[in-house]
Amino acid sequence: MIYYKTDEEIELIRQSCLLVCKALTHVAGMIKPGMTGEEIDKEAEQLIRDHNAVPGFKGYRGFPATLCISVNEGVVHGIPTKEAFKDGDVVSVDCGSFMNDFYGDAAYTFALGDVAEETMELLRVTKTSLYRGIDAARVGNRIGDIGFAVQDYCEKTNGYGVVRELVGHGLGRNLHEAPEVPNYGKRGRGPKLQDGLVIAIEPMVNLGAKEVRQSDDGWTIISKDKKPSAHFEHTIAVRKDGPDILSNHTMIEEAIAKNANVQAVALKKSATIQG
Ligand code: MG
Ligand code: MG
Repeated sequence: MIYYKTDEEIELIRQSCLLVCKALTHVAGMIKPGMTGEEIDKEAEQLIRDHNAVPGFKGYRGFPATLCISVNEGVVHGIPTKEAFKDGDVVSVDCGSFMNDFYGDAAYTFALGDVAEETMELLRVTKTSLYRGIDAARVGNRIGDIGFAVQDYCEKTNGYGVVRELVGHGLGRNLHEAPEVPNYGKRGRGPKLQDGLVIAIEPMVNLGAKEVRQSDDGWTIISKDKKPSAHFEHTIAVRKDGPDILSNHTMIEEAIAKNANVQAVALKKSATIQG
């Protein structure tokens, strides 16, 4: 069953999402080759707890950390480790918080140092596909319109592989609520989008084939062909006057602009909306 949120509930989810983005902004300011996932995880957890909130992922189905950190062929659900990031790594960082009874959820993929141009393009296209998906999240459309927008742009236009096994989701008092929000689909199919629907849209896109598998740590999802993968996520509310992006990547990107160790991920011209 889909639970549509009130204006008050949407504002509380926004606050939780903004805290997530504050944590990701903190990460954006310090991440560099030589640092470890465990180090940035500790920092993000402290920042969230300092705001009278708790990490949204820690303990969720037994996940042991505040951040999901997925490096290079890592798609999502990576566990922070003691292994140092290297120059040329792409590091997807997904963060959740639980504050005032509501979850927030957002993710960003950081390009450390000298990243291969074909991988930078994957990041740009994946980020752009997120905004194309958001632009389809309008009253009167259906969930399939969002997935179609992401898939068509990533696969048909750019030749990448869109991951099928993992999807976006509704969220609110629970981290994962109905409906599922696949990054693939057919136009005009699936649940109708109505005012008050809050969903996380989160394209997971592989440079190579779409197939993934679980790594030996029991958590990290990696691309089967071990080629790089990218992940960008916003939480949004469907409103009568259009999609309202509750999370905020702008603050993350302002921190990236000041961090010489991280490359900016530009939006492609084919983006139809920004946030
Ligand atoms: Mg997330
Ligand atoms: Mg999510």
